[in-house]
Amino acid sequence: MSPQFIIDASFIAAAFLFIYGLKRMSSPVTARSGIVVAGWGMLVAVLASFLYYFGVTEAAKPHLLGNAAVALIALVLGVSWAWWSGKKVAMTAMPQMVALYNGMGGGSAAAIAAMVLLQPVPADGAAGHGLVHYLVTVLGGLIGAVSLSGSLIAWAKLDERIKGTWRYTGLQAVNGAVMLLTLAIGGYIVFAMHGHAPPMVVVGFFAAALVFGVFMTMPIGGADMPVVISLYNAFTGLAVGAEGYVLQNPALMIAGMVVGSAGTLLTLLMAKAMNRSVSNVIFSNFGVTGDEAQGEIKGSMKPVEAGDAGIQMRYGSKVIIAPGYGLAVAQAQHKLYEFVKLCEAQGVEVKFAIHPVAGRMPGHMNVLLAEAGVPYDIIFDMEDINGEFKEADFALVIGANDTVNPAARTNKSSPIYGMPILNVDQAKQAFVVKRGQGKGYSGVENELFFKDNTNMVYGDAQKVLVSMIQAVKSLEGGGH
Ligand code: NDP
Repeated sequence: MSPQFIIDASFIAAAFLFIYGLKRMSSPVTARSGIVVAGWGMLVAVLASFLYYFGVTEAAKPHLLGNAAVALIALVLGVSWAWWSGKKVAMTAMPQMVALYNGMGGGSAAAIAAMVLLQPVPADGAAGHGLVHYLVTVLGGLIGAVSLSGSLIAWAKLDERIKGTWRYTGLQAVNGAVMLLTLAIGGYIVFAMHGHAPPMVVVGFFAAALVFGVFMTMPIGGADMPVVISLYNAFTGLAVGAEGYVLQNPALMIAGMVVGSAGTLLTLLMAKAMNRSVSNVIFSNFGVTGDEAQGEIKGSMKPVEAGDAGIQMRYGSKVIIAPGYGLAVAQAQHKLYEFVKLCEAQGVEVKFAIHPVAGRMPGHMNVLLAEAGVPYDIIFDMEDINGEFKEADFALVIGANDTVNPAARTNKSSPIYGMPILNVDQAKQAFVVKRGQGKGYSGVENELFFKDNTNMVYGDAQKVLVSMIQAVKSLEGGGH
């Protein structure tokens, strides 16, 4: 068997494992094994890339040892860091990690493009590769570099290292100019210089692309962050796929295409769920900050004891729970499900309502509830359950804020205006569990909290749920 045959067969096996893994990830029941299958695919692809060394030409052999050593060092560093960070990262910091990984994928693709574009013109004067080769290289490099700097800004925003968003007159014109400049340099490299531009031009191209990534991401905030994270995921896939073509590495091409297409679909779905178009997210300037947008809210916040709220719900006939980011912060999903089971045992119908951008990453709440063992048949997407809130005796909002803020429906100057929300305000009575007066991710006040039929249950979600469970158990004579 020739080394080339083994390499090709391994790449096909890796591609099969990627696609089969992705298929299994589409259901929460099989998602965990899907990740393991795709991980095996990646291992096969990496090993196959090393097999390449056994089939190279005599001329390339002098560089082999050095190149293999560098690749191995990079692998050891990457694997150790990923292993360590994967084990250490808290569930609430997962979105930041995803943003960083996206950025690194994009950065790697850009590095491949830079390496190709900085290669000297062959000494024998041969023209090298054709136009398509350099076009794909430059496009992949552009998307990869934008994804690198944009993802780093997204990471910093999610990690609250950068607060606020850029808002200034002419922002769109500046962003448009930077984009055009980047495209112009890229076009010059491909069409005028046939992929062999002076190093300073190549450096200028990547610098402009990186600046564009920063400028594009800085004005985005609030309800649009989830869409942008998913967009960079798609960008990274496309960039890696393009550079896979440049290197003629099938594993990179297939992995890139799988990530790129899955990411694009997710981006479109998220944008649709948020009532935004993708171009609206990228180019729009909402022009208001949370505080500026705030009108005067009438009414007052009415606190109630956790135990009382728990007991009232236990006597209700239908309760809909709207979980949010605070549930993840408090890691209260297990206690929440314990409370749900107690209510169900008393004949209360309990359902979960999941907003598409609840938490800090797509699917955050589904992952959290799955971890606690909540059955999938009582978990509903927003559009499937929103009509049921008006029949509910109680809506229990637990650590959610923006996703239940009625201002999104009515206040045109609000940064979350236009985002669909969970119709918690239509329930006969709402209980809102949160620690205090903290605002949601978008920084706007929530008029739901001031409504007549809303009561606030102040405290950490975990502690509140423990009190609710104790109160309900004490009714049944179960004690503490
Ligand atoms: P929000 O971020 O709007 O609000 C969370 C609320 O939880 C806060 O008001 C906070 O109030 C409360 N909270 C925090 N810690 C605790 C705790 N330990 N116990 C109880 N309550 C707590 O949450 P939502 O899920 O409603 O909305 C998500 C927001 O994040 C949206 O604006 C979305 O656009 C954005 N986003 C979503 C991403 C995604 O992909 N899903 C990615 C990036 C951003 P207090 O401090 O008073 O306790």
